[in-house]
Amino acid sequence: MSSLLPTTIQDQGHVADLLMRMSSNPPCSLVLEGGSQLQRSALAGYLLKALHCRNPGPGPCLECDLCLKIEADAFRDLFRLTPLDSLSVEEVREMRPALSQSPHHGWRMIVVEEAGEMNAACANALLKSVEEPVSRNIFVFLANEREAILPTIVSRSFVLPLGRTPGEGLETGQEELYSDFNDFVLSGKGFIHKSSRKDCFDLTGARQFLARIRLDLARGMRGEDSLFQCIEPVKAHSMILALQRAEKALSYKVRTDLVMQWLSLTTWKIFNKKQ
Ligand SMILES: [Zn+2]
Repeated sequence: MSSLLPTTIQDQGHVADLLMRMSSNPPCSLVLEGGSQLQRSALAGYLLKALHCRNPGPGPCLECDLCLKIEADAFRDLFRLTPLDSLSVEEVREMRPALSQSPHHGWRMIVVEEAGEMNAACANALLKSVEEPVSRNIFVFLANEREAILPTIVSRSFVLPLGRTPGEGLETGQEELYSDFNDFVLSGKGFIHKSSRKDCFDLTGARQFLARIRLDLARGMRGEDSLFQCIEPVKAHSMILALQRAEKALSYKVRTDLVMQWLSLTTWKIFNKKQ
């Protein structure tokens, strides 16, 4: 595997290899499920590079003009839809004529970031495009869990689960910390002091912790028993944004203790804000 590969992809090496193999005959619609948001997003880009790279080896070269354009999000055949930035059904419909044209390069990719957050109108509008596939268009839906995506989209897609490196299970000691985090969010006491020890979280531990919060949030949004049970949509939205910022900060190598303190304070604020 190329030494240029970012760790987000190295951590999901087997999925990257599968995508590389898939690039000779890609599905019209793909769901990337699990892992972290950054990993899902990076892997969608990896497939697009695999489809276009000028010097492919065991993977895309990551150095040719097309690989670099895709990396910079400057590739004309790459559409990224971000439901959290208030994607509207009109935008989805307006995109349709463009999708029926031949792509400028070999393939066009429409990446739906955080597809689970999409409202029903947008999801149904996209379903229409997925149901009437145009050759050389590939839809890629990214989500923490496939259950969050419209089932009719999932049933028409090839689902690729990412390794659960930052997964549901926390290591011993971390479960206790997670319960301290829960207490902190409810009472404003305890967790900050503990988590400010520098050795409290290593990078993997911090990522697992974020994934655990995400999972609990998803459960809470479905009304299941969790810290976030029946959380109001506005607060859930703020939580998702906070988790994304924390994940980004970790990937930029911000100290884990600082990220976790920021996240716990932010969660506490979101949780206790009067509507
Ligand atoms: Zn290349």
